[in-house]
Amino acid sequence: MIYTHPDPVTTVNYKEKTVTLESFFKLDNEAQEYILKSYRDQQRIKDSYNFAKFQIQEATNAIKEIQERCVHPAKVSVPRSDTGKWDRSQDEYWTEHTCPDCGKFWREYK
Ligand SMILES: [Zn+2]
Repeated sequence: MIYTHPDPVTTVNYKEKTVTLESFFKLDNEAQEYILKSYRDQQRIKDSYNFAKFQIQEATNAIKEIQERCVHPAKVSVPRSDTGKWDRSQDEYWTEHTCPDCGKFWREYK
């Protein structure tokens, strides 16, 4: 059984066959119940997934807000470089900062 529900739902798959809404009403009760249960189960998965994505977004926003409030007093700064190329003018120097308090990581180029 492959279940798909295009949006808006006009067809569902039942026992490898596409069932249109018109033909759905001609199915017996058991088949209709099966399709409806599948639809509800899939809807629940979709809703759960969307809610989890929403929670990730909320948590991401919370972390961003925390990082904006932090002044990073305990930040660890590591100087980095990319040198040794033929053209010395392409040498790069930057510093990588990590704050253990708020988790922020950023690079500062010179
Ligand atoms: Zn910080």
